[in-house]
Amino acid sequence: MSIYFDNAATTPISVEAKAAMVAAMEVFGNPSSPHGEGRKAKAIVETVRKGIAQRLNCLPAEIVFTSGGTEADNWALLTGIRDFGIKHLYTSAIEHHAVTHFAEYIEKNHDVAVHYIPHNAEGTHDMDWLKAELEAKQKAGEARMVSLMHANNEIGNLIDLAALSALCVATQTYLHSDTVQTMAHLPLDFKMFKVDFAACSGHKFHGPKGVGFAYVRQGTSTQPFIQGGAQERGHRAGTENVIGIAGLGAAFNHCFDEMEADIIAVTKVKAHAISALQKSFPGVQFNGLSGDLEKSLYTVLNFYHPTLHDGGMLNFQLDIQGVQCSGGSACSSGAVGGSHVLNGIGSPGGTRISFSRYSTTEEVDQFIEILQGIAG
Ligand code: PLP
Repeated sequence: MSIYFDNAATTPISVEAKAAMVAAMEVFGNPSSPHGEGRKAKAIVETVRKGIAQRLNCLPAEIVFTSGGTEADNWALLTGIRDFGIKHLYTSAIEHHAVTHFAEYIEKNHDVAVHYIPHNAEGTHDMDWLKAELEAKQKAGEARMVSLMHANNEIGNLIDLAALSALCVATQTYLHSDTVQTMAHLPLDFKMFKVDFAACSGHKFHGPKGVGFAYVRQGTSTQPFIQGGAQERGHRAGTENVIGIAGLGAAFNHCFDEMEADIIAVTKVKAHAISALQKSFPGVQFNGLSGDLEKSLYTVLNFYHPTLHDGGMLNFQLDIQGVQCSGGSACSSGAVGGSHVLNGIGSPGGTRISFSRYSTTEEVDQFIEILQGIAG
């Protein structure tokens, strides 16, 4: 028996993505070559770019393919800070490490002060504090940037990205959002509100690993992150991952086009998990806002119960029984001290179960039975 409840770490590749990648394998040209084979490869890359731009309501030129979400985050933050003379970076201690470790690096190596936006025990940030800070820095004439993720990958908390964008516009602040967990999961429309940079990772929505993109708003012109060629309109050198881009494009389009139905179906699975956990384990706590269907991403649920967690072995026991889930983000699993997000909100611990369109309520019921067996 196998239950895969770790879709925030990565998702199985969809039939659509697989088919697009197999077809792209037949095209071996270099997209930068002007001849026929090259043009075939270029057409794959540009068709995917156009499809994504159409769905995000942005320009194709605003999509820059990368090796994934981590590169897109690093790319936005480094080029933004370097090219716009940013002196203050406002972010959060409970971001993904692609942002927090970058923030530590940039503070050490560049003339930038990093400020961590305070948050409460649910992981909700103090936006009044941020507003006062941005207004003060605007008055002082010091360039600033905010980086806050759209949905937290461990506790699912959603931020009001439109409201944050309005604050950044009002205070003339650059805005980057790590949208890795929400791209192709929630509707994003970059004409509805202004974001300067956003990040996407193909393997979070049934596409391949090692490919993603950065959204870079037109007019936010930056120097290349990787030097060595004119690819991606000079933004990022290196021959494009044509097969990966083909798979990412097919997965993105399919998820975007099926989004409404997926949201309804996956929310039903999550709601079932919440009530089943509450019924079987009275007193269960949901970390962050993950137990709130309105305020958290429909794919992520993070729970804690002393009977289950205080031995510190739950995730290991679940793995032995064929349940794959996570104690924190996949990238920091095995890290000493556990999850920086759960530590950051003062939680005693937890298990993240994360769903996809392939998850079912029957799997949730089996999962609960296994938990009951473990609890004894
Ligand atoms: N940002 C968030 C919120 C993520 O969940 C992840 C993946 O876990 C990343 C960034 C990194 O993306 P990638 O695995 O494509 O480098």
